[in-house]
Amino acid sequence: MLQKTSHYMRQANLIGGEWVQADSGATIDVINPATGLKMGTVPKGGRAETRRAIEAAAEAFKSWRKTSALERSKLLHKLADALLDNQDSLAELLTMEQGKSLTESKGEIGSSAAYVRWFAEEGRRTYGDVVPSPWADRRILVNREPVGVIAAITPWNFPSSMLARKIGPALAAGCTTVVKPASQTPYSGLAWGALCEEVGIPKGVVNIVTGSAGEIGDEICENPIVRKVTFTGSTEVGKILLQKAAATVKKVSMELGGNAPFLVFDDADLDRAVAGAIAAKYRNSGQTCVCTNRFYVQAGIHDKFVEKLAEATNSLKVGSGLEDGTQQGPLIDGKAVEKVEEFVADAVSKGGKVIAGGKRHALGGTFFEPTVISGATNDMRFTQEEIFGPVAPIYRFEKEEDAVALANDTVYGLACYFYTGDLGRAFRVMEGLKYGLVGVNEGVITTPEAPFGGMKESGLGREGGHQGIDDYLDTKYVCIGGLGL
Ligand code: NAP
Repeated sequence: MLQKTSHYMRQANLIGGEWVQADSGATIDVINPATGLKMGTVPKGGRAETRRAIEAAAEAFKSWRKTSALERSKLLHKLADALLDNQDSLAELLTMEQGKSLTESKGEIGSSAAYVRWFAEEGRRTYGDVVPSPWADRRILVNREPVGVIAAITPWNFPSSMLARKIGPALAAGCTTVVKPASQTPYSGLAWGALCEEVGIPKGVVNIVTGSAGEIGDEICENPIVRKVTFTGSTEVGKILLQKAAATVKKVSMELGGNAPFLVFDDADLDRAVAGAIAAKYRNSGQTCVCTNRFYVQAGIHDKFVEKLAEATNSLKVGSGLEDGTQQGPLIDGKAVEKVEEFVADAVSKGGKVIAGGKRHALGGTFFEPTVISGATNDMRFTQEEIFGPVAPIYRFEKEEDAVALANDTVYGLACYFYTGDLGRAFRVMEGLKYGLVGVNEGVITTPEAPFGGMKESGLGREGGHQGIDDYLDTKYVCIGGLGL
């Protein structure tokens, strides 16, 4: 049953400027994780619908690529304004389908607008080169042009801002798009279609298809019209898409899983480290790719850190994201709760000590208590696996080099954090960590101005920064001869 409507809530797909249902009429239910109630449905599209969306994007590309960078920039600024003008209602929609607190959802919509605005500006600076020619009568130009139709597949944990990092640079560069939002949180994605329409982005430039992930993914990967796939999600699915996209040699950007370490050295500012730990662990109920997975704390500060982190964790307010003051909402679904329970049981069976939380929350449903486990050891599952929930395992260490080695002992390389008051150590440790994002004495570091992305199995490419538009541009070398100079 529909609980509440938002002006931007669409229960249809956007293909070539038309809001449509799946050919079969099949739909997917969308559930509010805080209540377990159905919010509504979205079409269960497949290959045919995706193919039409790709063709619509290809048609729109013919004229969109010819618009000036300034014209596209103006439209993107309007889009950013529309996001901010409707921040409250978009945040409410996001909280209802995803669960995070309203404060976090407003932050996410604000971040979406900031990314769109950043790329509205970066799109005006996609400079080429005029290269000194080795030939007297020829000139060398290096131009940058839009790659063409791009396809974006996004996860449920940031259903709005993950689109901003893809739609923003794609449109700024002159590309057109086919977007597939996650099935559990499709409304924040479909809202982008409604917003793009409202601000005057031409039909077919942004197409949005919901439905069967496998079918949509296969069409995207196999269709030669699509020239780039940008994916945010698990490493497992990223690997499948990389293999499939290889058949037509598409450009790829992959923002995949993480296993973030958080190192606290004896010389750290303890209170600052605890505040950073809370932000880096429990944001979005621990369901972010940059959330801390492992806390490594040096022996001299260990006990005090554990005590203070447990105290701060116990004071977090758990509840429906729509309620005032909520700091941690529900997990996305029952499976996520079961996975977190398994991690806790595994740790306890191997000697870990639960010192905060540790079980399902009294609120029931998919709520879980913010949890701290001390005495974590390398044989526990969460040492290598992404927790994606509100569990903070704490490992004790003695020597700096051991902590850096343990931090790097993972296939992932997305985000890491460390706290120290020693400048030399800050540089040594920063240079030793094999991660794409490093927070030094900071627990939340994402911003549109900086490149976001991982090393190793955490991905390929960068979103944000001036680098964030590069993957949407092809480089063309032009040699002009016979100039008779
Ligand atoms: P997921 O299961 O990989 O799903 C992500 C998206 O891929 C969804 O839209 C999903 O569709 C789709 N998908 C699933 N199987 C597919 C297939 N075979 N072909 C094409 N598409 C397919 O990830 P998730 O559980 O939504 O998100 C959590 C993961 O994302 C975590 O690992 C997290 O670390 C990662 N993440 C990374 C970043 C980053 O920037 N590095 C940011 C956020 C999240 P359905 O929803 O329809 O299944």
